[in-house]
Amino acid sequence: MNKSDFPIFTNHPELVYLDNAATSQKPSIVINAIQDFYEKSNSNVHRGIHKLAEESTILYENSRSTIAKFIGAKPEEIIFTSGTTESLNLIADMLGQYFGTSAKTKTILLTELEHHSNILPWQKIADILKWKIDYVNIDNNYSLDIQDLDYRLRTLDVSIISLTNMSNVTGSIVPLEEIGKLVKSKSPETLIVVDGAQYVPHHKIDLSQLPEIDFYAFSGHKMMGPTGIGVLYGKEELLTKLNPTKLGGGMISKVEREHSTYANLPEKFEAGTPNISGAIALASAIDYIINEITEDDINKLYNLTQYSLTTLLSIPELTVLGPQASENRGPVFSFSIKNIHPHDVAQYLDNDNIAIRAGHHCTQLLHREVFNLPATARASLYYYNEKDDIDKLIASIKKLITTFK
Ligand code: PMP
Repeated sequence: MNKSDFPIFTNHPELVYLDNAATSQKPSIVINAIQDFYEKSNSNVHRGIHKLAEESTILYENSRSTIAKFIGAKPEEIIFTSGTTESLNLIADMLGQYFGTSAKTKTILLTELEHHSNILPWQKIADILKWKIDYVNIDNNYSLDIQDLDYRLRTLDVSIISLTNMSNVTGSIVPLEEIGKLVKSKSPETLIVVDGAQYVPHHKIDLSQLPEIDFYAFSGHKMMGPTGIGVLYGKEELLTKLNPTKLGGGMISKVEREHSTYANLPEKFEAGTPNISGAIALASAIDYIINEITEDDINKLYNLTQYSLTTLLSIPELTVLGPQASENRGPVFSFSIKNIHPHDVAQYLDNDNIAIRAGHHCTQLLHREVFNLPATARASLYYYNEKDDIDKLIASIKKLITTFK
């Protein structure tokens, strides 16, 4: 890939963009896919019999197939949503409805690493079902504590476990295969839901090789696609048993006065006019990943992760809140600097045209209960970042520390 594929860097040549965990920049091919759709193929999907309607339906359904193939799933197992947050709300609501008749009190197991989008939807369901919520601890290396998970699986009646594949704060990667096997061996009925928002943009995920994973959510905008499009994957046999929570046009088979029957997968979960251009542009982003992100680009990002970690760790006033080795971690570095508020860090870096993020990154529990900090600063990388970006980050941080001393 080429940095020049991304017009934002031509428009802002001085920009050092290190806020990729929040959202990635978009290559021209993705931006053009949206414009092309509206200029050449715009029509609503599924309902028309004119040529344009057929064309837009084919483009939309081909995008579903591209995405399905990319993650090792079947097209019927791909539900388009607006993003990870909607995907997690959708699956929580559907499972809530599904388990609504079960009188027994069960537990929904989450982890201390979770984003608010993977906590609040489950709190709502636990409230409705009168179930309990529990959290798996993280260990001293900011990774998921597998022994603690094992203990909770043995001592609690866990019906659902919902966990991140990679933390948006610590960068810790959660070993899905090991966890999937552990969960299903201890508790075969437990459903496993995964928040893949941070993992999918940097890693190959093949769900056909992870049969224990029941549901998987991710967003398009963190992987070079547009905002407003995301995916909920669900195993076909499970999706068939679930009822949609969003009802209306496009998802029915027959409507009668009192009752209606629903369409087959995946339409039954996509009521209303979907984000057609978003789905098409997400498929373009995936084509870009497949065709333009080479082995060299992947190695470059890995080496840059290692380099960032080593250089950040070499600053005595700075603490990295995440695994201190580059194995099993992604390119996300949350840090605190002694006696300097993270917002001041982000503001100071912005004056040097370096975009990072400061705050609790939608993980108040992790910050308050584990880090004992209200906020951190976070630098996160993507394929277009260069060593020079990290050198500028480090130089600016060092200048800041000297200024505030
Ligand atoms: N989970 C994680 C781990 C995330 O990093 C994010 C985005 N910050 C989300 C969920 C929510 O994603 P979205 O805002 O695209 O719905």
